[in-house]
This record gives sequence, structure tokens and C-alpha cells, in this order.
Amino acid sequence: MNLLKGADVVNAMNQQMKDELATMSRIPRLAIIRVGEKPDDISYERGAMKRMETIGLRCTTHTYPEDITNEDFQKEFSIINSDEDVDGILLLCPLPKHIDQNAIEQMIDPAKDMDGISPVNMAKVYAGDKTGYAPCTAEAVMEMLDFANIDLTGKRVTIVGRSLVVGKPLSMLMIGKNATITVCHTRTKNMPETCKNAEVLVAAAGRAKMLNADYVGKDAIVIDVGINMDENFKLCGDVDIDTITDVASLATPVPGGVGTVTTSVLAKHVMRAAKAKM
Ligand code: NAP
Repeated sequence: MNLLKGADVVNAMNQQMKDELATMSRIPRLAIIRVGEKPDDISYERGAMKRMETIGLRCTTHTYPEDITNEDFQKEFSIINSDEDVDGILLLCPLPKHIDQNAIEQMIDPAKDMDGISPVNMAKVYAGDKTGYAPCTAEAVMEMLDFANIDLTGKRVTIVGRSLVVGKPLSMLMIGKNATITVCHTRTKNMPETCKNAEVLVAAAGRAKMLNADYVGKDAIVIDVGINMDENFKLCGDVDIDTITDVASLATPVPGGVGTVTTSVLAKHVMRAAKAKM
């Protein structure tokens, strides 16, 4: 089994973006919006800022206390949303319960919605309209497959997970590449059999090491989106990778896989948004 490492994909993407940035008359800007101090949000924010800096994009962070009122947050959000100097917005989700996330999703300018949370972008992804922004994680999976020169045409793909950020949009992106998709979830019967039948298996369930060799077909390509903690509090994916080395042909590691590529996709979206504005 070969490993498909995120770093290789990131290096190729970043170089391309740096070259493109050198031809642009203005440096695009991302605004990251965070409410509260959740460690996962802070860590993702740091990673995103670092990635923007590496590529040479501008990035500003806008943080608000956990107890900001819904009304005040909407006011702050709308200022950033209408700021001409902001090309893209990343809103760290989920927001605290007292804030109406649905209202923000309706409010965000679809042209600045870098993680595909607006209904307009969801509809565009569903319709196969390439002017829309898909969630960065779903697109990161596509970038990895593309980097590895995997043609999805006619391939049997099984995706474990049907969330709005990963499973569902990814199934749409893959249909757009002519794959034949099966989506599994908690009510799926015969999961091992369904997964084993796949030529490309995507794990996005959020269950530590749930998928072992019983779920992986001979020579399958395995993409692990999961980010979990194992029993020793070590970062791990949804795939028990040590058990599939003699079965799969290619697999993404965790850490160092899809998660690494996500912020480069975010940067790519910011560049696209700025270019569309110009
Ligand atoms: P989520 O909203 O909790 O959705 C999980 C999905 O997996 C649901 O559709 C659920 O089915 C399904 N599922 C859960 N347990 C299952 C099981 N035992 N058998 C079959 N299906 C099962 O999670 P998410 O936001 O999509 O995230 C999924 C994983 O990806 C998490 O580990 C998360 O940390 C990771 N993630 C990574 C990135 C990245 O940048 N790499 C970004 C986002 C998320 P039901 O619908 O039936 O409940």
C-alpha cells in the first residue's frame, strides 16, 4: 500500500497559487470569524492563518466573546460581510447555541462564502455549477484524488457519512466526476460488504479506527477524512490503517492527510473570490 500524503498535495497547490498571486494586482484577503475560545477552532484558525501567510495572502481574524448577543453578532458579521476589502469569509462553526447560525448562513454573501455554508453555494454544488464554493474538506478530498491522477469515471465509490460539510457535498462533487456513489450512515445495513465493494472508500464518520480490513476491498483507494482521538489520546482517523496495508493500494494518513489539504483549498477559494471580484 502506498501513502497519499497531504504535504505533497499542499506543496503542489501552494506553488501554483504563489505563481498566480504574482500576476495579481491586489493581494486577496480572508477574514476568519470566531466566537468563543474552542481549542479546535483556535487550532484551525492558526493553521489557516499560517497557510495564508505561506502563500502570501492577507488574513485578518475577528474574535468575539462566547456570550456576545445574537443581535450584536449579526451587526458585527454584516460589517465584515459588506467590507469591500474582504474577499472571503471563514466562519468557524458551529456557533454557540444562542446565535442564529441559520440566519448567518442566509446572510453571508455567497461570493465570500469560502466554506460553502450559504444555501446558494449548496444549491450550486448540488447543481454542478462550478461558480459555487463547496465545503473545503469535501473539495480537499477531490484535490487529493486529482493529485494522485485517479480518474473517478465509472468507479464504485462508497462514502461513509452523510453530513452537510463532508459526505453530502462530496457525493455531489464525485457524481460530477462520473463516479457511481453509495453513501453509508448509521442506518446502513451490511456496512462491511458495502464498503468492501468500493474501488474508492471515503471515511467521514468521525469514529476512531472504525473501518478495518473487513471494510476494504482488494486494491481499494482509501481516503480518511476522520479526525479523532484514540484510546491513548493520539490523533487518528476513521480507518485502522495498520490493518489495511496488505489490502488497500493507496491510503491517506491521519494526521498528515486530508486535514492538511483543507486550508490550501481555503486559500484557493480566496484567490478565486478575489479574481471574480476583479
Ligand atoms: P458528523 O456531522 O458527525 O457526521 C458523521 C456522519 O457519519 C453522519 O452522517 C453519521 O450518520 C455517520 N456515521 C457516524 N457513525 C457511523 C457509523 N458507526 N456507521 C455509519 N455511519 C456513521 O461529522 P462530520 O462533520 O461530517 O465529520 C466527520 C469526520 O470528519 C470527523 O472525524 C471530523 O472530525 C472530520 N472532519 C475533518 C475535516 C478535515 O479538515 N479533515 C473537516 C471536517 C470534519 P447519521 O447521519 O446516520 O448520523
